[in-house]
Amino acid sequence: MLEVDLHVHTHFSNCGLHSILEMIGYARQIGVKTLAITDHGAAVGGRVSNVFYHRFENVFSDIKVFKGIELNLIGQDGKTDMPMAQLKNMDIVLLGIHANTEIGLGAKKNTDMLIRAMEENPFIDIISHPNSREYPLDFSRLAKAAKRHGVVLELNNSKTLLNSVDDEITKNLIRACIENECQMIINSDAHAITELGRDESVRPFLEELHFPDELLLNRNPEVVDEFIRRRKKNKLV
Ligand SMILES: [Zn+2]
Ligand SMILES: [Zn+2]
Repeated sequence: MLEVDLHVHTHFSNCGLHSILEMIGYARQIGVKTLAITDHGAAVGGRVSNVFYHRFENVFSDIKVFKGIELNLIGQDGKTDMPMAQLKNMDIVLLGIHANTEIGLGAKKNTDMLIRAMEENPFIDIISHPNSREYPLDFSRLAKAAKRHGVVLELNNSKTLLNSVDDEITKNLIRACIENECQMIINSDAHAITELGRDESVRPFLEELHFPDELLLNRNPEVVDEFIRRRKKNKLV
């Protein structure tokens, strides 16, 4: 189980089943120590709640709650669906390729778009589910660029749990991160409480490929806190 889960959806995403409080409540129940609420950007129907970002205060002492978003690409120039001025309010920013992006562009173009986004946008912290079946990527180029920009590549538990990704593609992603010493994070990408904090679908891949522990960002909550602090400081410059 994950002590730190930085990718979770709520009612503010079309596909999220529960409220923010329900997600936090269940996370506390199962012992998650750090949770990030990361609903979708507007391009796939996500609704950013200003009230959440400006007025919600975590009242629980046994869990840390970060406020984030999962962005989408909205063009081939690496642009995303939230202005930089708004991204400044976020503790954590994920970027993933979703259904609003054309299928069939090919690995080179898909990779170019993500690399361009990392180059142009200092707020991006994590690339979510790069192992998608529909949007192939050049993992070696992606891992090199992510490392250069201090961005972490995600190992997404739900995608494997729900059989929407192929094991061999997932293993190739992990191999590219090992070869290029690029950090990874295991996230649940929970859309329902039953998916929250889970990592058992992807852990065996890390064991099989002897993934170095020091490249796993959420190996403990302190390392994640330090990552978020450091990234936020960079964003102010
Ligand atoms: Zn996603
Ligand atoms: Zn997601």
